[in-house]
Amino acid sequence: MNTIPTTSPDRVGTSLSRALTLVHTNRTALRSDLTERLGLTRTATGLVLRELETLSLIRSTTATRADPGTPTTGRPSHTVAIHPDAPTVLAVQVQARSVLIAEAHLGGVLGQVDEVPLPEPTTPESVLGLIADLLSARLTTTNRRPFGVGLAMPSAVGSDGTALAAHPLAWPHAVPARRLLTELLARAGHSDVRVHVGNDANLAALAESRHGAGQGAAQMLYVMTGQVGVGGGLVIDGRLHLGSAGYALEIGHIPVPPGDHPCRCGNRGCLDVEADPMALLRAAGPPTTEPTLDAALAVIARRRVDPQARAAVDLVIGRLAGGLASMINILNPDRVVLGGMYAELLAAEENRLRSGITAHSFLDQAARIDFRSAGLGAATLVGAGELALQPLLDDPRLAA
Ligand SMILES: [Zn+2]
Repeated sequence: MNTIPTTSPDRVGTSLSRALTLVHTNRTALRSDLTERLGLTRTATGLVLRELETLSLIRSTTATRADPGTPTTGRPSHTVAIHPDAPTVLAVQVQARSVLIAEAHLGGVLGQVDEVPLPEPTTPESVLGLIADLLSARLTTTNRRPFGVGLAMPSAVGSDGTALAAHPLAWPHAVPARRLLTELLARAGHSDVRVHVGNDANLAALAESRHGAGQGAAQMLYVMTGQVGVGGGLVIDGRLHLGSAGYALEIGHIPVPPGDHPCRCGNRGCLDVEADPMALLRAAGPPTTEPTLDAALAVIARRRVDPQARAAVDLVIGRLAGGLASMINILNPDRVVLGGMYAELLAAEENRLRSGITAHSFLDQAARIDFRSAGLGAATLVGAGELALQPLLDDPRLAA
């Protein structure tokens, strides 16, 4: 059994980080469970929790366990939860037509979400200027300084916070989004706010892994399609796999033969354009004026009575299955979480999707994978919050 050696501050710091992360991902935890999962003695766990309480990150409550069927021992159960005064961050998500902004709390909880339309044209200056204005308004009115800002971009993002390919905004290649937003905030008098930038689908993956359908998985692959294009992420032991330069898991650009549609990346036949809602609508027949995702979901809904809808759904499932099989063969995840239109396809046609994946799969291993539909309502925004909270989760003493 491990104890906290007083001579090793690094190990105490690690235990603080692990304990805060456990409470963050479970929101409330029984102290006895925390002791077991930390692998510490009760005394050592007590020391760790006391320090986190002193930092106003958690608080302990004493309650009688009320689980039906659990034999009561007469001993009260000590519960640990996120402290109401714990630091918060500001989470921002850039979408194709609007910006979402909300306060994000430890525990994966968002405050009120505001949505503001993007300016036209959507240049880096106009979009980042709008975000700086929205953040400044929040920073000026809040009585609590946020711990940082997390920005989710519809773009591959380099490890230095550069938006490498923000196609939905028609941005040029390599816009240094983090540097520009930091400079704009400094000009508005907020020079001490740390800005973090990530890819939207990557951040949704992180949120699902910590607070949604990926909880408990060791290696979770997340694949989603919203309105246009396909994104995803791989989360290993609670951390995003970002690759050497920050943009690993650009899942949308896996080729899915025999597709030949031109992709925004310059290649042809990528999952991004062969298996997104636009691809489903192209295959389903006459164009519609409905928003893309709604129209695609309507096609899925009428597949049993409309042969063209049936054929379109089968085509997209076949291409998605090919793309997923390639990723599963390479990555060997223990769970696959599907979001957006793919969550609907999984719910509607799990058997077809599974048999398509198995047909392309190495060693039939895909048949044993746990597939789930994404569970969070605002995964990307929650993930942007996770990005900005990460330094605090890594080193809870920064809250001092
Ligand atoms: Zn592509």
